[in-house]
Amino acid sequence: MNDIIIGIDLGTTNSEVAVVRGGRLQLIEVEDAYLMPSAVGLDEQDGLLVGQAARNQLALHPERTVRSIKRRMGEDVKIPLGDRSYTPQEISAVILARLKQAAEVQLGEPVRKAVITVPAYFSDAQRQATRDAGTLAGLEVVRIINEPTAAALAYEADHAQRRHILVYDLGGGTFDVSVVRMEQDVVEVLASHGNNHLGGDDFDALIVDQLRAHVKDDHGLDPADDPRAMARLRHAAETAKMELSSAPITRIEEAYLLEGRHGPINLSVDLTRADYEQMIEPLLDETLEAVRIALEDAELAVNDLDEIVLVGGTTRTPRIQQRLQELLGLQPRGEIDPDLCVAMGAAIQGAVIAGEQVASMLVDVTPYTFGTSAIAELNGERYPYCFIPVIRKNAPIPVTRSEAFFTSYDGQEAIDVRVFQGEDPDALNNTQIGSFRIEGLSDVPAGNVIITTFSLDVNGILHVSSVEKLTGKRKEITIDSATARFEREEMGAAQERVQDLIERDADAPARQAAASPAGQRDAELIERAEGLLEHANPEDREDLVDAIEQLRDALQQEDATAIEAAREALADLLFYLES
Ligand code: AMP
Repeated sequence: MNDIIIGIDLGTTNSEVAVVRGGRLQLIEVEDAYLMPSAVGLDEQDGLLVGQAARNQLALHPERTVRSIKRRMGEDVKIPLGDRSYTPQEISAVILARLKQAAEVQLGEPVRKAVITVPAYFSDAQRQATRDAGTLAGLEVVRIINEPTAAALAYEADHAQRRHILVYDLGGGTFDVSVVRMEQDVVEVLASHGNNHLGGDDFDALIVDQLRAHVKDDHGLDPADDPRAMARLRHAAETAKMELSSAPITRIEEAYLLEGRHGPINLSVDLTRADYEQMIEPLLDETLEAVRIALEDAELAVNDLDEIVLVGGTTRTPRIQQRLQELLGLQPRGEIDPDLCVAMGAAIQGAVIAGEQVASMLVDVTPYTFGTSAIAELNGERYPYCFIPVIRKNAPIPVTRSEAFFTSYDGQEAIDVRVFQGEDPDALNNTQIGSFRIEGLSDVPAGNVIITTFSLDVNGILHVSSVEKLTGKRKEITIDSATARFEREEMGAAQERVQDLIERDADAPARQAAASPAGQRDAELIERAEGLLEHANPEDREDLVDAIEQLRDALQQEDATAIEAAREALADLLFYLES
């Protein structure tokens, strides 16, 4: 039996480990989670803390905790920890040893070998330091591979043709974009560009700034003077940011944030996705500029790209996916968990080295876009049935997404919610699969907020609800087998189109008039069938001989029903063999 080779994503913020066993990818849990914080610390009795436990004490005991050690790899430095100090590779080795141990516990056997990923821009010294960290952890590092290469492998384990893949990786504190070329067994990074100090933490910081300004304006106090209040704001900002990835609006509430002049200050602020997107736009511009540079460095045009692959937790932000699609004209792929796909790719590389068969990852995704309609601009004009996608094609399922809608005139009492499947900007060109009406809305000016939520489960059941934000009044429907229905309807529509085409066949009457008499047609059919006998495989040949015989027998007996049946059977067989 081959040695197990685990795949490790040794990240700045979090690390993950995966393995392929019996052709199947398996993620390894470390303390009930797939993400292990890349933190190492000592507790008050100098006991070692790794992962979540070390992360937990970071705010209270920064002097006894080390994080983001990846940023120091390859440097000739000593990092103080307790009363001693350690090299970056030694600290990393502690993280790797914990991952190795978790794999051994889950697999029930010793693990000695690993593939470890590093950023494409890592220098030789940084790669060597990573290798040394593995050795110190008791692992033979069979290969160091680039993170974008691993991500591409997770999506395209079996890459036969040449493919160009753009890997957009935006994590908590780093950003990279790489262009990867895959060709048979060779995967190479053609170009890589990024910013080592840009990530989701910066997005959080923008929200924190806004919250600070809000408290200052309302209460004349700056939370920045109170580290505990700032820590709470940072946490609340990150939570709000993540909520806005699936909801159009979120409420940030922190009771007793500060002691004010007139009693405790309770924070309660609504943040809309639209406002948040406006805040982060300059940061997104910077990442898209890096995409352009990477493409230029790879000497590729936008049209040369076959795929965009999303890596890093921050790529769950819908606006990022939208901007990439606008720029590159391709729908980015994020169906493999963007936090885990690098570890998965490393495990796939390990399996390939170990000589194991690996199939591509299978993730449940929705094959269709679901949405609703609203008044908006279409081709420069106001149009009542603009399609507003809510759950987009290729989203991993189960999935829940919400959008905010607004009443369009004062005192609007009801809204019709129509549910569509399709991609066309004009909802009426898509397939309507359900509708409902929410009535009795409050008598308020136009702009009354209605939140509509779509939830699609793994069985293709779509649940749609609309809620008046002001009162919580709610209406909903459930659409069974939303995806299967579309397939049926698509098939029906396709059949109609084909039928329509056949009926519009201008030459048909002439051809029919010129058609040979029935007997001659049967003779031709038999002749064509006999022509196929020589090259048919034994099974098909037997079928052909049987069908020819049956038609001949029926013709001889002049049995009209039998002739019709035999003729049809032979024609079917020919259709199948000749196509
Ligand atoms: P990573 O370094 O790849 O683990 O990414 C971590 C970053 O992703 C952090 O900044 C998280 O706040 C961010 N993140 C995680 N989930 C989401 C989400 N649903 N929407 C936006 N950002 C997210």
